[in-house]
Amino acid sequence: MTAEVRTTCPYCGVGCGVLATPDGKGGAAIAGDAEHPANYGRLCSKGSALGETLSLDDRLLHPQLNGERVSWDAALGTVAAELQRIAGAHGPESVAFYLSGQLLTEDYYVANKLAKGFVGTPHVETNSRLCMSSAVAAHRRAFGSDTVPGCYEDLDEADLIVLVGSNTAWCHPVLFRRMADAKAKRGTKFVVIDPRRTQTGQEADLFLGLKPGSDVALFSGLLVHLTENGFSDRAFVEEHTAGLDGALDRARQIAPSLQATAAATGLAEADIAAFYDLFARTRRVVTAFSMGVNQSVQGTDKGNAIINCHLVTGRIGGVGQGPFSLTGQPNAMGGREVGGLSNMLAAHMHFAPEEVDRVRRYWAAPRIITGEGMKAVALFEAVRAGRIKALWVMGTNPIVSMPRADHVREAIRGLDLLVVSDIMANADTAREKARTTVLLPAQGWGEKDGTVTNSERRISRQRRFLPIPGEARPDWAVLAEVGRRLGHGKAFDWPSVAAVFREHAGLSAYENGGTRDFDLGGLTDIADSAYAASGPVQWPLPKRGGPKPRLFADGRFYTFDRRARFVAVQPPGLAEAAGGDHPFVLNTGRVRDHWHTMTRTGKSQRLSAHRAVPFVEIHPEDAAARGLSEGGIARVSTVHGSAELEVMVTDAVATGQLFMPMHWNAAYASAARVGALVRGVPDPVSGQPELKATPAAIEAVAYR
Ligand code: SF4
Repeated sequence: MTAEVRTTCPYCGVGCGVLATPDGKGGAAIAGDAEHPANYGRLCSKGSALGETLSLDDRLLHPQLNGERVSWDAALGTVAAELQRIAGAHGPESVAFYLSGQLLTEDYYVANKLAKGFVGTPHVETNSRLCMSSAVAAHRRAFGSDTVPGCYEDLDEADLIVLVGSNTAWCHPVLFRRMADAKAKRGTKFVVIDPRRTQTGQEADLFLGLKPGSDVALFSGLLVHLTENGFSDRAFVEEHTAGLDGALDRARQIAPSLQATAAATGLAEADIAAFYDLFARTRRVVTAFSMGVNQSVQGTDKGNAIINCHLVTGRIGGVGQGPFSLTGQPNAMGGREVGGLSNMLAAHMHFAPEEVDRVRRYWAAPRIITGEGMKAVALFEAVRAGRIKALWVMGTNPIVSMPRADHVREAIRGLDLLVVSDIMANADTAREKARTTVLLPAQGWGEKDGTVTNSERRISRQRRFLPIPGEARPDWAVLAEVGRRLGHGKAFDWPSVAAVFREHAGLSAYENGGTRDFDLGGLTDIADSAYAASGPVQWPLPKRGGPKPRLFADGRFYTFDRRARFVAVQPPGLAEAAGGDHPFVLNTGRVRDHWHTMTRTGKSQRLSAHRAVPFVEIHPEDAAARGLSEGGIARVSTVHGSAELEVMVTDAVATGQLFMPMHWNAAYASAARVGALVRGVPDPVSGQPELKATPAAIEAVAYR
């Protein structure tokens, strides 16, 4: 054994600190880092099994060109030449990048700079579009910036935690245990709002199993209740907000009475009244939300309906209170920080002329883009239509995870150039072929250095502690080499990953013209040695010697007049109603012990044992009506595709609903890709696709 290395878990957005002690043979002992403020030594089942996922089985170890092993020089020469040819022939907007919340911030920064500043394409998208972009849009509408107000200490100090569309017990397990500590210590109450009674719902003091897509009615009714019953903070509303009248008028139309809210949500009036009363009478309330809110055709409005209730009571910026979007992926927040979405430019800047000009000058990028690109669903439709000719996919598996995944597969096969940077050779996307296909072996967790930012805006280091497998390289270095081969040597010439971080921090510095909300100016000069040794830091950074800043404690937001905005939300509704041949509402999500498309967690027998095969959950009444029994096989069909899965009969799902996990990929179960079934109608504001409510049918499958 050699010395332990401090690093960060590569799975969920909790961002737990990990101590890895390499064994010198390519493995490592894993333990929680007692000094990391996200987890104080705890790890969940996935984090503690990280040592079981380090084998090199199925790793992509060498560059490949059209299925043949080639040198890095040949692979990157082809990538640069093809990008140049395609951008020259069809325009730079025929090139797109599809990134991932698994990438490190430095990888993200270089990809964003290369695409938006030098190739000249705005089409930089990410699987984070499927994860939290509705929360981003809701924050921007309410606060004038993508700023998550809360921190984990607020959960320790809350008297009421409302969890909306979040199976925190399985998807952010260490954070849920922290909430459970608060319950034990101070009697914190849990209200869980979810169509499905998940593990989290089972631990609730009050569980509200509302109809899919009806969240806006529930929170509109709460806004009306708070306002009409003397629970609004009038001084806060008058001094620090704008737009209450319009939002309230709309809320009254959506939820004119308790009876109307009960009818819209399918909840009992007494349960709604109990929730409203608890919320109204508890000052320290945190409302945490994740994919059940975000992955919706109305995800942005759902987020704003929640935020409206915190604004009207002034419950934001104080200890133990505020709306709190929990990010799914380990570095979804870091991707937001660098601007790695097609509707952002860089460092929380968008496309105001002065922002474009500042980034142009900072990057010395004459070709900088001046407007938004396409969001994920539209982007893959453009690939299918032949408008995108070259696509570089990094650290994600869209053929499994994108809605209408079979369309995505077909689209990718028509590309002139497909570049896939991945650690796995067997990832579905890496096995596809376009006219020219280049596979680039990436360094994975434990093999490379950089930073990630968790749900509470805390930047932590991922560190290398394993030997580098085969010829794998860090993604940022590969992107930089392509930048140099495209003739931009000076702009892509970093001697170390720390130098990339310094440049990223410098672009964000408010004193140099960056945005007011996201400012890493204090780290612009961090030395390589300090970067190497750095512990977790949270933004906003404290002023030298000053106390830890608390966002919005002064009631000043990032709009032009520094007032937060109430948002008048649209009435609730699903993109497509269930009925006719597809009478069920198909919900999708995670299981406790797998991560995304299982390329890593699928290697651990212990993790796989929790849920060994893909399954569909169905209520006992529906199962009986269709002749389905526990452990049998069912075919679930939508107008987009079908999948065969094991039946799990449970009253965790309501009648008329089904639930399928999102994880299984071609390496494990080619007939069970949930992405092939869901249509994913995008939210009109955020572009985040609906993944929780697709009309579906189910029938028994008889095997002889
Ligand atoms: Fe990793 Fe999330 Fe588990 Fe923490 S809670 S150990 S970050 S998967």
